[in-house]
Amino acid sequence: MEKPKFERPVINRINAGVPDKFGMKTNVRPITEIDNNSINELLAEFGSPLYILSEKTIRETFREAESAFKTRYPKIQFAWSYKTNYLNAVCNVFHQEGAWAEVVSMFEYEKAIANGVPGNKIIFNGPDKSRTDLEIAIKNGSLIHIDHFDELYEITELVEQGAGKAKVAIRINMDTGIYPQWDRFGFNFENGEAWSAVNKIMAVENIELMGLHTHIGTYIITPGAYGVAMKKMTDLAVRIDRKFEHAIKYIDMGGGFASKNTLKGAYLPGSDTCPSFDDYAEAITSALNHSDIKQDRMPTLFLETGRALIDDAGYLAGTVLANKRLADGRRSLVIDIGVNMLFTSFWYEHNIVPAQDHQPDTEDTTIYGPLCMNIDVIRSAVQFPLLEKGDHVVINRIGAYNMTQWMQFITYRPKILMISTEGKPEVIRENENFESMNSHDRVPDHLKEIKF
Ligand SMILES: *Cc1c(COP(=O)(O)O)cnc(C)c1O
Repeated sequence: MEKPKFERPVINRINAGVPDKFGMKTNVRPITEIDNNSINELLAEFGSPLYILSEKTIRETFREAESAFKTRYPKIQFAWSYKTNYLNAVCNVFHQEGAWAEVVSMFEYEKAIANGVPGNKIIFNGPDKSRTDLEIAIKNGSLIHIDHFDELYEITELVEQGAGKAKVAIRINMDTGIYPQWDRFGFNFENGEAWSAVNKIMAVENIELMGLHTHIGTYIITPGAYGVAMKKMTDLAVRIDRKFEHAIKYIDMGGGFASKNTLKGAYLPGSDTCPSFDDYAEAITSALNHSDIKQDRMPTLFLETGRALIDDAGYLAGTVLANKRLADGRRSLVIDIGVNMLFTSFWYEHNIVPAQDHQPDTEDTTIYGPLCMNIDVIRSAVQFPLLEKGDHVVINRIGAYNMTQWMQFITYRPKILMISTEGKPEVIRENENFESMNSHDRVPDHLKEIKF
């Protein structure tokens, strides 16, 4: 029999309180494996901490989303939002599933090209496209989603100087009942700016207005907002057709579907409040189907879903460095995962659990990362069982934004694994090391020598 773990006794006031609708006790259930791979064994082989992605979950989630839309509207095209997670292996899973690429910078554009995405299947979004970027996008026949008038004027200049024919859409911001309104991107619908952009585009011979684009925000938990947005988009499409006899080829509803993570301060867990793909699809497609667009001119529906397609597939596993009692007797745990590796911990209460079986008793615990900074808190208060130095923990639902918005700080970023659909762990990004980090530094001659 294994020796039970000993913890120094402490005296705690009994906190009887009032049970909430979920009862009194928080049950912590360990996550010991991912797609039949033991987390403890993966950490032993590939080092700690470690990001792990499940290819199976990515594909299943994508297919679920796609079928929610396809069963309601026949012409659907997803474009993978690169900034959500642009590891090449991840992008290629989505591309194999049929998704195009949605990029917001030349770096991401180059990644998509290098991944083998044809230029005409790349959507180029964002406010920062240089003249050269625009030239490349025009040459490759990519879909340029214009963000502001200065960009439109630059494209106009380029095509008038013979750069080719530009395929464009305009990004539109609008009031959908979601506040604060994201009015910093694109042209406003209500004040007529979007209509004015359309008129300017239609007057230029070598700019083809292919689509209308909006991205109303992120983590939108009211599907009805998308219905409002689609109504405005189709109204504009009808108006364009009426004035110019020009059919809009696609309407792009952007991203923004919520993932099942719990926002800080939310009363109910995200897994209970997050709408399903069916809910979003119903709101979007019924507004489209009920619009005044003529049947033979119905556009393709583009979706740039990011976080909702990848969050569930990502895990971050790590190791307990120490147990500590704080000055007031509160239990705390120090782990080797810092907030620099878990950017989304600034707004999510991430679910963290042990990666091996543990004793049933839990205590209110603060979980700290290893950074020498006071802000490095993974969870400020969570019911957690006693773990010992060397035990493992895992944080799930971290696939979105953490592998792109992470920060290198005081140590190297770790390996990233993908568990293949067949259950095989494969390294899809190497860890940084002294050479890779140091190779970017340059020391001026007069600083090369140091003396003591
Ligand atoms: C970030 C972004 C997305 C993806 O957003 P999610 O909220 O992750 O779904 C889609 N389209 C555009 C234009 C974006 O900037």
